[in-house]
Amino acid sequence: MGIHWELAEAGLHFEHPFDLLPRPRSGLSSFVAWTKSPPGSVAGHPHALAPQRPCYAPAVMPSPTRTDATILAHHLYDFAECEHRIALDVRLDKAQRTPPDAMMELLFERGRRFEREVVHPLGYPAVDVRDGEWDEAFARTVSLMREGVSGIDQGVLIDGARLARPDLLERIPGKSALGEHYYRPGDVKSARSARSDAVLQVGFAALLLETAQGRRPESGFLILGDGRREEIDLDGIRCTIDDAVERAEAIAHGGLDTTASYSAACARCRWRGECLPRLQDARDLSFVHGLTRARQRVLRRNGVATIDDLAHANLGVLIDAGVPADGLERAQAQARALIDGRPRLHAVRFPRGARCEAYLRIEIDPLEGGEPWLIAWAETATDAGAVADVKVEGIRSAADRATAFERLVRFLESSAVREAPVFTYGSATARAFEALAEASGVSLQRAGEIAARFVDLAPLVRRAGVLPVFHYRFDEVVAVAKGSVRPGPATAEDAEFVRLQAWRERVAAGDDAAFPFEALGRDAVESLFLVRSWLSGR
Ligand code: SF4
Repeated sequence: MGIHWELAEAGLHFEHPFDLLPRPRSGLSSFVAWTKSPPGSVAGHPHALAPQRPCYAPAVMPSPTRTDATILAHHLYDFAECEHRIALDVRLDKAQRTPPDAMMELLFERGRRFEREVVHPLGYPAVDVRDGEWDEAFARTVSLMREGVSGIDQGVLIDGARLARPDLLERIPGKSALGEHYYRPGDVKSARSARSDAVLQVGFAALLLETAQGRRPESGFLILGDGRREEIDLDGIRCTIDDAVERAEAIAHGGLDTTASYSAACARCRWRGECLPRLQDARDLSFVHGLTRARQRVLRRNGVATIDDLAHANLGVLIDAGVPADGLERAQAQARALIDGRPRLHAVRFPRGARCEAYLRIEIDPLEGGEPWLIAWAETATDAGAVADVKVEGIRSAADRATAFERLVRFLESSAVREAPVFTYGSATARAFEALAEASGVSLQRAGEIAARFVDLAPLVRRAGVLPVFHYRFDEVVAVAKGSVRPGPATAEDAEFVRLQAWRERVAAGDDAAFPFEALGRDAVESLFLVRSWLSGR
């Protein structure tokens, strides 16, 4: 992890744990570009992505003077996640934040351990920060750079009102103010793909290196949860990084206003205690699923600021006033569903002809870089009223994983279900299936033939209408289908992982504790059956 608790204690920084969670790659991730690892690169396995064009006309980025609003690497993370966090971080007392919950603690701990596992064996000199003496730590970092050590563990970089602490600084050959060598930054992330926030943080450290060594490194790197080393073409995203830093600084210095806006990030944000009650009291428009911030701004400019405003708006008048018509009717239906709690659905027609159906749920563990920890499946006759005999495989180790996957493939290829559709929910199941197939040496063709039968219910739910939910997550959709209490806006999806980790620790300590998620697996498969039946109106 680039920045640690000690920074938080110094009042300067607080690392958010979200970067450990697998998330969809944003546009910026596509800038993670292929460059050859420079000589001297040691940690991680090289990985190549398509090259990108460098940005046009890069300019110098003078740093403002250091103040309470010093920009830290995590602000770049926040910038990618929610700009409002930067404003709250610099303006409010940090004691007002919601304390980290058990899941966040686990994520911190796992991230810290993984970072040590990668960095420690390299044997690079580490830079400590004693008694909050950041300037001293910076001076020590520069002194090591002048000495020309092959790498630095947790170096501190300061330039005026900017401070970064990359996990690694790696020496490479090339002219700089240091002589015939210079350094480039890298971070260790236990996520399995390079995310935009992680890339921005590395880019920020590169910006600060320019002052320290008289040369801004053209590249940086990330070492990911599976040991892969992903090279980042920092030249290619220089403008993006500089724009992000400039904007983050403008927010921190009060030159740019931000407002709270509900998103999936709120559930694990430590400012949620501040934002969510206000947004809920205001019945804010941002709770309406599918409304981008840009679309919300247009609606607000036209007097639609709440869920109720949208539910009762005259859409014709809004369209005439210049609000884009695309998706507006659906957004209004979504607002109405949130108000009255009633789904608005029409029945979905599923392909006919199959005599039986299969159901598959694979749960993925963010603490293990996205590895599956539970696989559950069942079959049923197409006209049956319930699923019976659900198989649940709990996974403790790589060996368990291979055995569980073998059983799953045997089931999916058995004569009883060979032709059957396999109902899943969300793209994670298909991704996990692919990863398991690869790890188990199942041929692409064989895995592809099975995966081609997967029917993802998530897009079908959205196509069928609108539900009174915030994100269309499986737990939300199931709650609506069951008519039970729906998860609130502050509910995160990963509560079970805390229990999973506790179980793993007991097993690692020699306790022969049985896998405690049989019921969860059964419930997941029965819920898939319920959602499928509910959608088809049977
Ligand atoms: S709670 Fe949500 S809106 Fe508020 S700062 Fe956090 S992510 Fe942003």
